[in-house]
Amino acid sequence: MNNINIEKLRKFAEKFVEVEPDRLGTEGWWLTPLLAAAPVDQRFEQLPRIAANDHLHPNDLLSTAKSVIVFFIPFKKDLVKENKDGDRPCRNWGVAYVQTNDLIGRLSQALSDLLAEHGFKSELTPATNNFDEAKLMARWSHKHLGYLVNLGRFGVHNMLITTAGCAGRLGSLVTEAQIGEHPLINSDEACLIKVGEDCGKCMKACPVEALSENDFERRECWNRLNENRDTLDYLSDLPESTHVCGKCAAIMPCSFLNPVASL
Ligand code: SF4
Ligand code: SF4
Repeated sequence: MNNINIEKLRKFAEKFVEVEPDRLGTEGWWLTPLLAAAPVDQRFEQLPRIAANDHLHPNDLLSTAKSVIVFFIPFKKDLVKENKDGDRPCRNWGVAYVQTNDLIGRLSQALSDLLAEHGFKSELTPATNNFDEAKLMARWSHKHLGYLVNLGRFGVHNMLITTAGCAGRLGSLVTEAQIGEHPLINSDEACLIKVGEDCGKCMKACPVEALSENDFERRECWNRLNENRDTLDYLSDLPESTHVCGKCAAIMPCSFLNPVASL
């Protein structure tokens, strides 16, 4: 009954993402997803310090939670390349954002259903909309959870760099199942600047100079995402929540891999 393990969860996620283009009748935007897990232990007590001060603990979502699962769905190179040109996101970047949020929601639910079939409860949070617009911080940050379960490391662009890069989106859930410790990244850092190498390409690419080596101007970035949604005609039919830019992830040394791994 309860023989669920990381391999089954990973295979399940891979299959789910693989068939999504057929379900939509399109070519799809996605590469093979990554999935990491870790036991609910004292590391998660850091969340209020390293993320938002009102960030939830996994046991706030599910008091009996034993594991945190975080997955990353990478975007195909063609999409990321298309978003490179100019200072504004391309339409496909917006469409991919919307479709990926939907995919993340359904994959999270499907993983939860799979765990339930094995006798374990799970709890989910939405891919977006757990965000405090005053503080510009999430009360459930997939990025910080991804860092703590060793799915990736933060770049100076404030995104998580995984072994499949940073150009993609994250989802997470907590579960009663004891999945164990299954990291995917081995290096302490994955951003070139953080290991003393020359880079900073993401900083140069940001159209509003929101990025610097030791700081992230959240307000500047957030204003830009809203401006893009509100002023670009070709995004106007997409949901109000289509907050996109992505210039700092577009064809960077860390877009599709962990550049520190090959140093
Ligand atoms: S583009 Fe360079 S400096 Fe920016 S996050 Fe990636 S590796 Fe780090
Ligand atoms: S998403 Fe856009 S505005 Fe925000 S930091 Fe990246 S490049 Fe700058």
